[in-house]
Amino acid sequence: MATECKECKSFFPMNENPEKGDCVQRVVDPRQAYYKARPVDAGADASKCGTFSKK
Ligand code: SF4
Repeated sequence: MATECKECKSFFPMNENPEKGDCVQRVVDPRQAYYKARPVDAGADASKCGTFSKK
């Protein structure tokens, strides 16, 4: 079975619709660290994602 975004630690489901959510990544650059969020589907294929981390 394919690995999906919903199994990833970076996936935060929306309350209204848990099939959609945000992929939240901590970004560290030399001057600061911050969080970057982008919308993803819960069922999106995570097998090619380089930053997948199992919940
Ligand atoms: S895109 Fe990658 S890092 Fe983001 S939620 Fe999906 S598997 Fe996780």
